[in-house]
Amino acid sequence: MPPVRGVRTAPPLPLPPLPLLLLLLCVVPGTVSGTQTITIGGFFYNANNTESLREVAFRQAIEKVNAEAEASRRSIAFAYQVERLSTTNSLPASRRVCDALRRVGMAAIFGPDLEPASGHVQSICDAKAIPHVQTHMRDTSVQKHFSINLHPHPGALSKAYADILEMNHWPVFAVLYEDNESLLRLQQVLKLPQFDNQFQMSVRQLPADGHYRHVLKSVMDSKVRHVVLDCSAGHVHTVLKQAQQIGMITSEYSFFITSLDLHTVDLKDFSYSGANITGLRLIDPSDPKIIMTVREWRERQREQGVTRQLPSASSAASPLTIHARSLKTSDALLYDAVHVLAAAVRDLSTPLDLSVTPLDCAGEFMWAHGDSLINYMRMVKQDGLTGRIEFDAEGRRTFFSLDVVELKESGLVRLGSWSPRGSNMTQRARPAVQDQNRTVVITTILKDPYTMLKESSILRKGNDRFEGICVDIIDELSKELNFNYSFHLNPDDTPGRPNAKTGKWNGMIGELLEGNAHMAITDLTITKSRQEVVDFTMQWLSLGIGLLYTKPVRQPPNLFSFLSPLSLEVWIYIALAYLGVSVLMFLLARFTPYEWDHPHPCHLNQDVLENQFNFLNALWFCIGSLVQQGCDFLPKAVSTRMVAGSWWFFTLIMVSSYTANLAAFLTVETLVSPISSAEDLARQTEIKYGVQESGATAQFFRGSRISPFDKMWSFMESQEPSVFEKTRDGINRVSTAAGKYAYFMESSTIEYTIERRCDLTQVGGLLDNKGYGIAVSKWSPVSASELSEIILKMQEDGRLQRLKTLWWKNKKEGGKCLEQNAKKGSVSALTLKNVGGVFVCLMCGVALAVVQSCLEFIWAVRNQAAEENVPFASEAMKELSFVFRFRGNTKPVRRPVTVDEDEATIPFSTNSSGQYAASGYGYTSRS
Ligand code: GLU
Repeated sequence: MPPVRGVRTAPPLPLPPLPLLLLLLCVVPGTVSGTQTITIGGFFYNANNTESLREVAFRQAIEKVNAEAEASRRSIAFAYQVERLSTTNSLPASRRVCDALRRVGMAAIFGPDLEPASGHVQSICDAKAIPHVQTHMRDTSVQKHFSINLHPHPGALSKAYADILEMNHWPVFAVLYEDNESLLRLQQVLKLPQFDNQFQMSVRQLPADGHYRHVLKSVMDSKVRHVVLDCSAGHVHTVLKQAQQIGMITSEYSFFITSLDLHTVDLKDFSYSGANITGLRLIDPSDPKIIMTVREWRERQREQGVTRQLPSASSAASPLTIHARSLKTSDALLYDAVHVLAAAVRDLSTPLDLSVTPLDCAGEFMWAHGDSLINYMRMVKQDGLTGRIEFDAEGRRTFFSLDVVELKESGLVRLGSWSPRGSNMTQRARPAVQDQNRTVVITTILKDPYTMLKESSILRKGNDRFEGICVDIIDELSKELNFNYSFHLNPDDTPGRPNAKTGKWNGMIGELLEGNAHMAITDLTITKSRQEVVDFTMQWLSLGIGLLYTKPVRQPPNLFSFLSPLSLEVWIYIALAYLGVSVLMFLLARFTPYEWDHPHPCHLNQDVLENQFNFLNALWFCIGSLVQQGCDFLPKAVSTRMVAGSWWFFTLIMVSSYTANLAAFLTVETLVSPISSAEDLARQTEIKYGVQESGATAQFFRGSRISPFDKMWSFMESQEPSVFEKTRDGINRVSTAAGKYAYFMESSTIEYTIERRCDLTQVGGLLDNKGYGIAVSKWSPVSASELSEIILKMQEDGRLQRLKTLWWKNKKEGGKCLEQNAKKGSVSALTLKNVGGVFVCLMCGVALAVVQSCLEFIWAVRNQAAEENVPFASEAMKELSFVFRFRGNTKPVRRPVTVDEDEATIPFSTNSSGQYAASGYGYTSRS
């Protein structure tokens, strides 16, 4: 379209110095060279000087259209300048607009959205031929040529209110309004009694001081039971609260609220009151399109940080929380408005070069393309967040569609829709609980013990095919709430998660969003992202993430486990103590005179004294007491007795401690596991670990910024072959990988698994805390709050616990591992493996004794042969034949040739006649 004649284009103006107070936030330059950059301005009233959702909507819309333009290789990009106005006065606003126009020039101006500033900016835009885009309700009588307004036109809106009131058949009602703008909206409503004398109406203004009780009381006193409330969304809660305080929020009263931002008001306090609260809305916060858009904003905000805040002290305010439910209609309108401008520029820029030039407000020049652009904008027809966008010839939005909503226990429920072409109450209020005809379609997946196929030899159909705790829960709920249900299996066989690129949900949640099912039940974890798109009941089972791993292996019993009760160190110290005490005993016994005695008590006049504690005897004495056996001689001196006493005390304690510990070491088998927690897993790479990729557990790791879970997620993602498995396969993989694979899953399913798979166990504690809920679509004839009530009841009367015990412990091989463990746990007899070492010790001792005895024999025979001068062999044969004849216990003394008793060197014993006799071969004589 050619430029309108008579418009004079402006020569470029010199740039003035940047005013210090200008709240210039951002000017995004053209993205690629050769791209034409079109600057637009956003003027927003913002008393706090912190980033508002309005600015976010504006900025994100521009970034979105720029991204779309770049993707479709269009060489046009928008730059933007946002200015925050701290007052609604017209003068500062006009100055700021003129300043901005003089410095950079603008192709369109958005806002401000409050009067009188808006009116003045509109006049400037009209004078300079710059499209002025508005998103708030304005009196159309002053609509200028260069203005376009996305807000539903007050006339049309007023018609909508009147139609709803007519439909409600309220013969007598009161209108409570806040300001003059309200009257603009309510024109048609106020005219109702004129057109139809069935209507009686009283009109009252709400006081500005926030004390509404007396106005409400006057309505109450006048016996009017229906109220049309026209006030800003910010005041709705206060008005209703005060009405509640005076007893107006009961089933006797009906309220019709005109604010299009009713969805942003917290109405929980009134949802169980029985009062009929209805309203209209332009945007549906549960609409997936809105949810996706808002989530995109939130993610981009997070990515960018709150970098766009002003560098002033006040800008350090807390970051903005963006949620679909807090999205105001005006913000959604602003987002749509940028898209309308982008569509117009796209259509227009082909024949035209839309160069933007600085303009002086005081000058006579106008922007050359403003007229074309505004005309193209009026011709735009497209769908946005606020529904169908179309304008009349004057740039007013007279065609739009509104949802009629009613407050129910679950929140605002859509009853139908209204548009200038007629109302269509497609969905009446939800039927009462007692209604018999409600049929709920339930999607589920097969997973033990939540929903399973019945094992049966006969062909089963419909719901009869399934069993499990979920089937039982639904059965209980259906009986309590009187609804019919039909189960089907989710084709994706997954709980559901959004596609990273398209944002489209798959699995059971996807089914709910697409309207293919009303409810979803399985081990469905309540997560934030799911809760944003569907409703959840309260949790029917609580759990956390745990780690499934193979049971620790039993160490084979040790041959020398009888040594285990004392550590090696203690054994060494005992040996040293034994040697030390023996040496001490030997020395003290030599030192003390009381240990020296006559060799034979009957021969006291002998001139030698003998000490029984030679070194070997000291050793013998000490070992005798150590093994609690004692020996045939005892200390006589006080000093040696003191040593002996201390040693006995020592051995008493050591032997008792050893005995006490020995039983445990011989009977308890030591279990060894290479990992005992998730942290242990994170520290190593040999044992692989995984999760179910599309589940809440994966979501936990994926979204975690906490060490070591973030590292663990990177590890899982980097593994080839993949470590991601569906729960069933994950369990099997843990079982078959012989300790080389661990699987993170939810503790409830782990509990069920380890009751039946005795080779598996849960390792470590829980990583988080969450619960399973039933997801409910917004089309469901049975609401989440109704279901929650019954779930709570089932929790209180123990039905849920009973169902859990039934499916976890009793049915389908429940308790199998408990029986096995009980068998293993009973005291079993010690095997040779446990006590083999003691036999080894015995054998060694015996073998040594045999060797020693042989040596003694050889030594004695050798000496005897030498004494008697006979060959060793014949002496040996003689002695051996005596030994192995096994006859008699006596042996004749072999007298020496010359007897010299005093020189006897071999121990003697006394025979019955009191003579000395050699006790072996040892009576030798010196030649
Ligand atoms: N309960 C999970 C979900 O709802 C699936 C199992 C898991 O992630 O461990 O996504």
